[in-house]
Amino acid sequence: MAESEVTRTDELPAADRETVKAWLDRVPVESEDSRARHAAFEHKVRQLLQQRNAILVAHYYTDPDLQKLAEETGGLVADSLEMARFGTQCSADTLVVAGVRFMGETAKILNPEKTVLMPTLEATCSLDIGCPAEEFSKFCRAHPDHEVVVYANTSVGVKAISDWVVTSAIAVDVVEHLLDQGKKVIWAPDKHLGRYIQQKLGTQDMLLWDGACIVHEEFKTRALLQMKHLHPDAAVLAHPESPLSVLELADVVGSTTQIINAARNRAEQKFIVATDQGIFYKLQQNAPDKEFIMAPTSGEGATCRSCANCPWMGMNNMENLYYSLLKGTNEILVDPELGRRALVPLQKMLQFRDKSST
Ligand code: SF4
Repeated sequence: MAESEVTRTDELPAADRETVKAWLDRVPVESEDSRARHAAFEHKVRQLLQQRNAILVAHYYTDPDLQKLAEETGGLVADSLEMARFGTQCSADTLVVAGVRFMGETAKILNPEKTVLMPTLEATCSLDIGCPAEEFSKFCRAHPDHEVVVYANTSVGVKAISDWVVTSAIAVDVVEHLLDQGKKVIWAPDKHLGRYIQQKLGTQDMLLWDGACIVHEEFKTRALLQMKHLHPDAAVLAHPESPLSVLELADVVGSTTQIINAARNRAEQKFIVATDQGIFYKLQQNAPDKEFIMAPTSGEGATCRSCANCPWMGMNNMENLYYSLLKGTNEILVDPELGRRALVPLQKMLQFRDKSST
């Protein structure tokens, strides 16, 4: 959008002003009964984690109470890359993964000897759903001279036919590494992250699968411009699953961990954040004196598919976590042959990450 098209917020129509303001005023409402019930489940979960020699690994996008519980019981709150690594390094018999299904599957592939439970098996991801293994396999077979690089947000079947698995923390570096070797790349499934990688590396030598994250795709460029005008002292932190036009307005584009680090280390006191709201727990914990504002999505309620809340991450709660631990339900099982094949690109991801961090 050209500079002349930018509207100051106090010049906006009243409805637009209300939309921006609504993002600043959102407060969850809870009754005393539901708080007591929640506390009772939490108490039992703490006991069961000990009894089962289990460890809770939670993603940054899950309910802050689950994140807090993971921290307080010796577990981990992290992005999908660190979640994957952590499972391989801890001595627990059972990993309880609060996140979405591909995270549980990744944990099982990397730790076949461990029991992997999830609060719910229904928590999936629009990127995973939008990239069925059979269709993707056909696409890859049609381009046999390409190296296949997939995002971690994919099924075991997709990982099993891929050369590399990456997360947003290392996606640009891995593709650059391959392009430097003269390789052509198939990238799947997130087209926004794919376009960001192309722009960052100045290449068109990538075939992109047409998938998207329903949460990050909702962030709106024009409304973000308006919010920047309302808060000219704020830096914009954005996850690369957001549309390129949003990323172009960002001061920092990075994985969830990179966003948290930027908020802690940068000089600004105020940040507009374009990723799932669950991350606010860690942002506030890491930079308690700073102010965080959610980047605007397309609207509220029925007009917004996610309102910066991943519906699948939101399926994890204290109650279903309790029942999963109590009964051993929602266990992740992976076909051994597929798991063996998917392990190869996953191990490459962990080795690449280890090399680049030394
Ligand atoms: S936030 Fe997006 S990418 Fe992450 S699990 Fe939800 S739908 Fe998938």
